[in-house]
Amino acid sequence: MNPSRQELSTRIKKIMKEEGFLDCGIARAAPLRKEAASLRQWLEKAYHGEMTYMENHFGKRADPTRLVEGSRSVITVLHNYYPQKRQGKESRYRISTYAYGKDYHAVIREKLHSAAKKIAEITGNFRYRAFTDSAPIMDKVWARKSGLGWIGKNTCLISKKHGSFFFIGHLVCDLELENDREETKNYCGTCRKCLDACPTGALIKPGILDARKCISYLTIELKNEMPEDLAEKTAPWIFGCDVCQDVCPWNRFAKPHKENYYLPAEALLAMPASAWENLSRTDFNRLFHQSPLLRAGYEKIHENIRIAKRHS
Ligand code: SF4
Repeated sequence: MNPSRQELSTRIKKIMKEEGFLDCGIARAAPLRKEAASLRQWLEKAYHGEMTYMENHFGKRADPTRLVEGSRSVITVLHNYYPQKRQGKESRYRISTYAYGKDYHAVIREKLHSAAKKIAEITGNFRYRAFTDSAPIMDKVWARKSGLGWIGKNTCLISKKHGSFFFIGHLVCDLELENDREETKNYCGTCRKCLDACPTGALIKPGILDARKCISYLTIELKNEMPEDLAEKTAPWIFGCDVCQDVCPWNRFAKPHKENYYLPAEALLAMPASAWENLSRTDFNRLFHQSPLLRAGYEKIHENIRIAKRHS
């Protein structure tokens, strides 16, 4: 006998836990009118800088039923990357904790496909697509709609139970499921630690990021030369930045992940400044061949090190 919607949804959440996800929520696939309007305004202000890919597929981004034909549900999962050990605060060159291990895209996609196989054992074949930061989908909005957290003043999804050091993934599918209708309240309150701590003032208002000033954008996405007034504030970061998450009080609830793929090489954590400065292309390829740092590439990392050295 086929399980009820409620039963199937409960079993899917259990499967996601077995796959190692921190949390899982479900929402009905439908157009996001209000959020699409906010995104349009944000793009019109050119806050996305050189990330012109964000302008593409606007219709699909605003509506998952256009992204995956026939879809009825968006299943959202969180995958923890909060590390047990970090580069010391004294490290002259730092990379964001999300980039310590193997690139998360492949890790999460594999887990989502494995989960989909287990779901199909219950439901029979169903249509789905698995995404993590790999398709035009408003990931944090879907996580919020699924009751997994709220979008904080730092623009990250924040979970009351887990903080914000996690990746977000989705299975957009044609299964009819029980939706988690309860959106989480915003618990930022009067706090503004992230706005005050951002070294470049990229959080221009609560919940509004001018990505052109964000250190993650400057050290990863920007292809042109870094403006000098911002370059002088990026040190010690050479790939991404964790400042607005590190200061967030909700991250006192973050617990270290148990994902072997995200474990950093000891050599990386202990890498002295001189090793970063003299990093050859061969060493870069050896150390980071499966890492998110490949997105930026050797030249960009090299340039970021040069900038951080000049300003630290
Ligand atoms: S630091 Fe404070 S204001 Fe910023 S996201 Fe966290 S709780 Fe919200």
